[in-house]
Amino acid sequence: MKFCNQCGAAVRLRVPDGDTLPRYVCEACGTIHYLNPRVVVGCVPEHHGRILLCRRAIEPRRGYWTVPAGFLENGETLQQAAARESLEEALAEVAVGSLLSVVHVLHAEQVHVFFRASLPAARYAAGAESLEVALVEPAEIPWADIAFPSTEFTLRRYLEDRRLGLERLHSTAYDRPAWRRATPV
Ligand code: ZN
Repeated sequence: MKFCNQCGAAVRLRVPDGDTLPRYVCEACGTIHYLNPRVVVGCVPEHHGRILLCRRAIEPRRGYWTVPAGFLENGETLQQAAARESLEEALAEVAVGSLLSVVHVLHAEQVHVFFRASLPAARYAAGAESLEVALVEPAEIPWADIAFPSTEFTLRRYLEDRRLGLERLHSTAYDRPAWRRATPV
């Protein structure tokens, strides 16, 4: 940051009185500009045991696979953001369920939060930010081409839950009889 977004004067990096960390301080108007991590929200949409994955059409990691996810906007809940990103990236209407994972991506100054989700109808297509969208069996997950470590971590936690039979503890309003028949992976 170089200039104050309140008055346009140059800012200076210093520790304000009573603080412990350096901040961008505007000496002209007195505004202290706090920079805090941004929140990325996503979900793992499931349809009869298969998982919805998107292949990224944008950088970073264009061409690699991920689950629907993106930056939380002001004025929306985490769950609303997860549903919105699924609609934008995969044209998929999901029912967002319980919390699945929280990943601190310190080097990127981000926190990634993922939810379980159900995809009641197998209707999906590539949104503007996706090259393609696919419903895949767990055995078909392209682990070598997953876009981000937080995505891989989340998918592995998700499959671990299924292996342990924990998904019923986390079940959402959506009835998922297929999960009770699912072959352990
Ligand atoms: Zn200022």
